[in-house]
Amino acid sequence: MNARVVPIVDERARRRPPAIPADLDAAAAVAVDRLQRPLLDLRISVTDRCNFRCVYCMPKEYFDDAHEYVPHGELLSFEEITRLARIFVRRGVRKIRLTGGEPLLRRDLVALVRMLAGLRVELQRPLDLALTTNGSLLERRAAALAEAGLQRITVSLDALDDDVFRRMNDVDFPVARVLAGIDAAAAAGFGPLKINMVVKRGYNEHQVLPMARYFRERGHVLRCIEFMDVGSSNGWRLDDVVPSERILASIDAAMPIEAIPAAEAGAVAQRWRYRDGSGEIGTISSVTRAFCGDCTRARLSTEGSLYLCLFAERGHDLRALLRAGADDRQLDAAIAAVWGARADRYSELRSEQTGAQREPVEMSYIGG
Ligand code: SAM
Repeated sequence: MNARVVPIVDERARRRPPAIPADLDAAAAVAVDRLQRPLLDLRISVTDRCNFRCVYCMPKEYFDDAHEYVPHGELLSFEEITRLARIFVRRGVRKIRLTGGEPLLRRDLVALVRMLAGLRVELQRPLDLALTTNGSLLERRAAALAEAGLQRITVSLDALDDDVFRRMNDVDFPVARVLAGIDAAAAAGFGPLKINMVVKRGYNEHQVLPMARYFRERGHVLRCIEFMDVGSSNGWRLDDVVPSERILASIDAAMPIEAIPAAEAGAVAQRWRYRDGSGEIGTISSVTRAFCGDCTRARLSTEGSLYLCLFAERGHDLRALLRAGADDRQLDAAIAAVWGARADRYSELRSEQTGAQREPVEMSYIGG
């Protein structure tokens, strides 16, 4: 692993904790951490397996045939996921994103979506239900996911050029099938979709403009993500990061853009719109512009550990409590206590951690 040499956090850009949304009634008793950040979003990893071996996420050398994935019996069941989700939603969580690994590899994911969507009615609370997927299995599933109550889909796609895409997913998967998945999702009513593109130097920076043009024409929102130092296996080097500033400059030169306000407090992306009114793009700059200050996200791993940061080394085992017979009140108290003690802000602290021996958990395990 390379030394974590690091960009500077710009104090002027440091984000502040968001206010608790007014639409959350007092009964929600929203959990607030030591830095005053409310718990408003939950990402749930439903599998640590993926059918891609993206070079920046699950490199083949590490995730090979000998890699030990979480055994099936240790995964949270759909009933367990829904029970925990219910407790989080009662506490004020208003957005749940299903992720992984590749979430569409989990058998019958549509049934889980239906169960989670049922919480809206049961708890009489708004609940934004979203999915992040590599799009490889989306063409066949999009309509059923919509029917089950999913509201939003983000598709990860790193290139339009088939050779470049195959080189990045490293399993020879053709880009045409992901594009067909995106079209199917749009036809099922999920448009405009967000398209996440991780930009890694030497691989796909020349794809930014073709991607921007293609998705602008189709009314979707391309979001360029800086290659992050998540996990311990992707050989991250600062030199491989293409800073958002550079990406924005190249887009602006070809298709002038201007900044627009974030859609909501705590959003990870900065938004930009084309000056000719033809759409918008986003940048996610975890490396050059850390967004810990308003991070309202908790992550539930495949086997039910609660992680407080994408860069965390350890989680808090909720499954053990669940399976030992804890009631909802005890689970709720445990979640509130864990969140209440949270002070994580890894991306802001990178510079102080240079050279430190850390073993952050893999993104495919806790979910991107
Ligand atoms: N398989 C699903 C997918 O491809 O969207 C969900 C899981 S994936 C881990 C979630 C997101 O994390 C994807 O958009 C992926 O590109 C992004 N990601 C993974 N490793 C990353 C890294 N090192 N830096 C930045 N983004 C990364």
